Amino acid sequence: MRLSKMYIRTLREVPTDAEIPSHIWLLRAGMIRKLVSGVYGFMPLGFRSVRKIEEIVRQEMDVKGAQEIHMSALQPAELWMESGRWYAYGPEMWRLKDRNEREFCLGPTHEEIFTDIVRSEVSSYRQLPLNLYQIQTKYRDEKRPRFGLMRSREFVMKDAYSFDRDWESLDHSYRGMYEAYEKIFTRCGLVFRAVEADSGAIGGSVSHEFTALSDVGESEIAYCEKCDMAATTERAACVDDIPSQESELPMEKVMTPGTKTIEDVANFLNVDRKKTIKALLFRIYGETDEMAYYVAAFIRGDRELNMTKLINALGIPEHAIEFADEIEMSKATGCVGGFTGPIGLHDCKMVVDSELVEQKNLVAGACEVDHHIKNVNYNRDYKGDIITDLKLIKYGDKCPVCGSPIKIARGIEVGQVFKLGTKYSKSMGAYYKDENMEEQLILMGCYGIGVTRTLAAIVEQHHDENGIIWPMSVAPYHVIVTIVNLEDEVQNTIAESIYKELLENGVDALIDDRKERPGVKFKDADILGIPVRITVGRKAAEGIVEYKIRKDAINTEINAHDAAGIAVAYVSAELNK
Ligand code: ATP
Ligand code: MG
Repeated sequence: MRLSKMYIRTLREVPTDAEIPSHIWLLRAGMIRKLVSGVYGFMPLGFRSVRKIEEIVRQEMDVKGAQEIHMSALQPAELWMESGRWYAYGPEMWRLKDRNEREFCLGPTHEEIFTDIVRSEVSSYRQLPLNLYQIQTKYRDEKRPRFGLMRSREFVMKDAYSFDRDWESLDHSYRGMYEAYEKIFTRCGLVFRAVEADSGAIGGSVSHEFTALSDVGESEIAYCEKCDMAATTERAACVDDIPSQESELPMEKVMTPGTKTIEDVANFLNVDRKKTIKALLFRIYGETDEMAYYVAAFIRGDRELNMTKLINALGIPEHAIEFADEIEMSKATGCVGGFTGPIGLHDCKMVVDSELVEQKNLVAGACEVDHHIKNVNYNRDYKGDIITDLKLIKYGDKCPVCGSPIKIARGIEVGQVFKLGTKYSKSMGAYYKDENMEEQLILMGCYGIGVTRTLAAIVEQHHDENGIIWPMSVAPYHVIVTIVNLEDEVQNTIAESIYKELLENGVDALIDDRKERPGVKFKDADILGIPVRITVGRKAAEGIVEYKIRKDAINTEINAHDAAGIAVAYVSAELNK
C-alpha cells in the first residue's frame, strides 16, 4: 500500500479524553476514531490489525474442531425471558422495540441464541459434542465506558458455545478451549495469566479468566508464588483469622462522640481495627418495588468487603444492589449512619463474614448516635441470616491453598471461559436422546474473547514514548519502506524495487511516498509501529539503505540489494515463532 494513497491521519497532539497508552496511540496512529462515548470506528490500519487477531482466533478455534457461524446482534426478548435473564441482565442490556412493539435487545452475549439453535437442531447423542462460535459485534450499555476499546459499548467478541452429553465430555471441551486461548494470546504477543474467576451474570460453576498483565487493567488477580493458586481477587477465597481464645466479656455501651469511621473508633477506644466490626448497608432491588429489601453486611474492621461475594451470597444480579440511603434505611431498620452494628438492627437481611463468628469481644456500632458497644460476640449477642466469606483478598493475606503470603497483580481481562453445565439447557429445554432413547439435558460451556479489547491490550504491552511497537503477528503491515527525498530519482527507484520485492514475497508492505519532510515520515513510522523500517535516503546512490527493527531501535546500514531479502526472512521468522 502507498501511504500517499492511504486514508490515514496521524495526530500530533494527545486527544483530550484519552488517558491510557493504548487509547492514546490507537487514536494518534489514526487506527480508530470515536463516534460517541464507547463507540469507535476502525480506520484502514486499525481494521487490518483487528482482522489479523480474528484470523489467529479462527485458526486456533478451528484446530479444536469448533465451527464458525454468524448470528444476528438483534435478539428477541422472549429467549431472554425463557432463561430468566431479561431482568437479570439489567441496564447494561441495550433494549429496543420494533414497529409492532415487540421487544428486542442488541446482544451483549449469545448464550440464549446458541441454546435456541441447538435445542431445535440437536436430538441425538450422535450429534454431540458440538462447538459453535462466531466473531461478532456485541453491545453493552456500560455504566462507565472508558479507555477507548478497553471498555466500550460496542465491541467485537469471539464467542463459542460447547454442547456435550456428560461432564467428562464437557471437561474435555473446556480444556480444549483453554488450550486454544493459551495459543491465541501467545500468538498475539501478550504476556498473560489464566486465573480462576467468578462466573458472574453468565452463570455456571467453573471459570477461568485470561488476563493480560498491565497496570492500567481493571482486573485484579491474587496469586501465590509457593503454590500455583491464581484467581481474580473477586473470586479468591480468604482464610479466616485463627479463632480467638478470649473468654466472652459482658457487653458495654460506650460514648464514642463523632467516631463515624472504623479508624476513628479504633483510635478513640485505643483498640486495633481487628477488634472492630464494620457495617455496610445496601438496598436490594427486585423486579417489582415490593421485592426490594435492605441488607447489612458485617466484616472485621480491618477487612474490605468483596462485592462479588456478597452478590453471590444474596443470589441477586449485579445491577440489583446499591449502597443504601442511610436516612431512608434508618426509618425501616433502626440503623444509624456511622454507628450501625448488628445489635438493634431489624427488618433487614444480615450477612455476616465467617471470620466474625470465632472472634471475641469486638466493638460494634450501637445503632445509636455517638455510641458503640464493646465486647460484642457472635451467637450470644447477634446472629446472621447468611454467614459466608465476604472478604476481599489483599497483598500479604494468606494463600487459601498453602498459607503463604499472597501477591497481587493488575491486568486486562481479554478472555473468559465458563463451564455452564445445565444452566441454559434446563431453563430453555435443550435435550438430546441417549443410547436408550432417554431424554437428557445437554451440558454447555461458553468461551469469550474480547477481540477489540485484545487489540488495546496488545498496544498496552507493546509501545514506547514514540508510538506503537506491533508484534509481527498482528501488525497492520510488516514493513514500511520510506523514501526520504521524493525528488531523488535513485532513491525512488531503489525504494520501489525493494517494495516490489517485498510484495512479491507475500510481505505486507507499505511505502511512504508522500511529499512530506523526512522528520514527519519518521515520526509517523514510529507512531504506526510497523515492525521493520527500511529507509532509502542519501546513501542510496552508494547502494546503501538503513534497516531498523522498531522494537530494538537500532539502525543498521545494509546493501540495498539485500534489504528485501533480509526483511522477508525476519518477517517470516517472527511469524513462525
Ligand atoms: P468485564 O468484567 O471486563 O466487564 P465481562 O466479564 O463482562 O468483562 P464477558 O461477558 O466474559 O466479559 O465477555 C467476554 C470478553 O469480552 C471479555 O473477556 C472481554 O475481553 C470482552 N469484553 C467484555 N466487555 C467489554 C467491553 N465493554 N468492551 C470491550 N470488550 C469487552
Ligand atoms: Mg462486563
